[in-house]
Amino acid sequence: MVWHLRKCVKCGNYTLNQKMCPLCNQSVRIPHPPKFSPHDKYLKYRMNIKEEQITT
Ligand SMILES: [Zn+2]
Repeated sequence: MVWHLRKCVKCGNYTLNQKMCPLCNQSVRIPHPPKFSPHDKYLKYRMNIKEEQITT
């Protein structure tokens, strides 16, 4: 998925226009990208391994 979408700061309209909202001519921002937390995933994985080692 390519993040060329912009979100209008005023009306919240999503647009491919990089400079301004086509509806109200307000500036646009990059919408919040989905949060990736690979570090947390690995941490959980490692914790699970630790727990397994403790129980065995
Ligand atoms: Zn707008």
